[in-house]
Amino acid sequence: MMQIPSFNLTGKIALVTGGSKGIGFGMAHALGAYGAQVIITSRGVEEGRMAQEQLREAGFEATYISCDVTKKQQIENVVETVVKEFGSIDILINNAGMNIRKLLIEVEESDWDQVLNVNLKGIFLMGQAVAQQMIQQKSGRIINISSILGTIGMPYQTSYAASKGGINQLTKVWAEELAPYNITVNAVGPGYIRTPMTDGWLSDSVRYQNIVNNTMQKRVGELTDLAGPIVFLASDASAYVTGQVLNVDGGWTAR
Ligand code: NAP
Repeated sequence: MMQIPSFNLTGKIALVTGGSKGIGFGMAHALGAYGAQVIITSRGVEEGRMAQEQLREAGFEATYISCDVTKKQQIENVVETVVKEFGSIDILINNAGMNIRKLLIEVEESDWDQVLNVNLKGIFLMGQAVAQQMIQQKSGRIINISSILGTIGMPYQTSYAASKGGINQLTKVWAEELAPYNITVNAVGPGYIRTPMTDGWLSDSVRYQNIVNNTMQKRVGELTDLAGPIVFLASDASAYVTGQVLNVDGGWTAR
């Protein structure tokens, strides 16, 4: 009989950056529901601890550790702590990110630096530190959270689109470098998902309608829309999928 690989994540250790709210929290919830031991990180300690409690109340194994992804030392400390306490890092959800939306001619140099530091350098630093551990384990799943703006362009997104395009590219490089160690590396590109990051943007009715019009399924995304794709990419079921960008966008980028 053919052995069908499992979506079950029981016994897997999953590190989710930016897991205190929004998409990161939703993905931590999904991984926990499929049995993973989840470690969430963010800068805001109070919010992070509240998220940890919410995940525990939902019946999942969850731990919060504070970490700013722009600080190499803090990243190394997190990786060391997780490996010491839990023994491995099987899944990395490289998710922490932010946006400063301005037209090209209004973008300050400091805006560009901030967005690129969190969204691209942060992904690089965390990916590098975790890859070193996964290489020793000879196994792992790295999922970088990109955006449809890694694939398409849009006004107001100079820094953000540049950072997400960079994520899509380094995903392909890491996939090939890490393939010999049984590590897969993929990116997920969400369309517009309702989170604290997009609440303000989506509350403008003209923008909201424009987003809905551009989406084949004529709605914005919810956190649950990312659960299946993330669990799939984190599980044994995606063993032969690497170097890919999976846009979870209601069909936006296919138009
Ligand atoms: P969000 O609601 O603002 O949450 C962002 C998370 O990242 C928070 O936990 C935040 O916690 C953390 N974070 C921010 N800066 C950080 C830093 N320097 N170091 C460590 N953690 C940091 O955003 P979201 O909408 O869930 O977005 C999450 C990811 O999905 C981002 O990469 C975003 O680009 C991507 N995405 C979102 C959408 C969407 O429609 N929402 C669409 C496409 C892609 P602290 O502030 O406390 O650190």
